[in-house]
Amino acid sequence: MENMFINDCLVINPTVPDKVIWKLQKNGVFTVNSAWKEMNSNQDRVSWHSIVWFPGQIPRHSFVTWLALLGRLNTKDKLIKWGVINSNVCSLCNQEAEDIEHLFFDCCFSAHIWGKVLRCNDEARQKFCWRREVSYFCRRYKGKSVKAKLRKLWFNATVYHIWGARNNVIFNQGGIDADMIFSKIEFDVKNRAS
Ligand SMILES: [Zn+2]
Repeated sequence: MENMFINDCLVINPTVPDKVIWKLQKNGVFTVNSAWKEMNSNQDRVSWHSIVWFPGQIPRHSFVTWLALLGRLNTKDKLIKWGVINSNVCSLCNQEAEDIEHLFFDCCFSAHIWGKVLRCNDEARQKFCWRREVSYFCRRYKGKSVKAKLRKLWFNATVYHIWGARNNVIFNQGGIDADMIFSKIEFDVKNRAS
């Protein structure tokens, strides 16, 4: 995505002073709105597209889920490879190594939240692994029904708030309370659905 924007949106002419032109707008000026539309229109039609981008989405939730599904969130497994940090221990459980799979599903903290989310959605089952859970949501909730929209809101809100809880621990030395995080998820979903 970054490369696409760089290649498509920067025009450099050595005979004139450098100037950035945003090609998605006729006047060459960047706007968040044009970037947002481009991001949505240029999605590869990956299987999970419809559970992230849908009418009534909560943009900040969908954005984080989108990054997670693209593998673009800077989880500790990446940061330690880049030499940015010295420890890759999960900030939520302080037990295992943090990667996408662990952080969002395997971690006992996240598992507790998903358990409550699934019960709220009449899903009488254990959570799956990350990829299988995504695949399940794609198959079951790809339509435009009220139920499908609600399930997608729950899914995106859960990913968003787990990521937020992790960042809060790392950057603010905040405490973690899975039930409180679940309450935030529930509040956002019900607020948007009402
Ligand atoms: Zn953990």
